[in-house]
Amino acid sequence: MQIRCQQCHKPYGVAKDAVFAALDEMEAESLHHYDFKCPHCRRVNRASHAELLRAAPDWHKEKDEETEDGDH
Ligand SMILES: [Zn+2]
Repeated sequence: MQIRCQQCHKPYGVAKDAVFAALDEMEAESLHHYDFKCPHCRRVNRASHAELLRAAPDWHKEKDEETEDGDH
């Protein structure tokens, strides 16, 4: 995903892996925003959960969704 830094106004890309990792961490810690560090000025910019989901629509919660192989 592409983020425009609010401090230096330069755009920078965040790899999909990093977006996935961020979503995992947000899920684990119940965060609503995630801070991505700008490579230009090293300040952080906030991305909302919704924004990240839009960037990685194929991300899925890693929760215990596995149901027992019983009769359902
Ligand atoms: Zn910056």
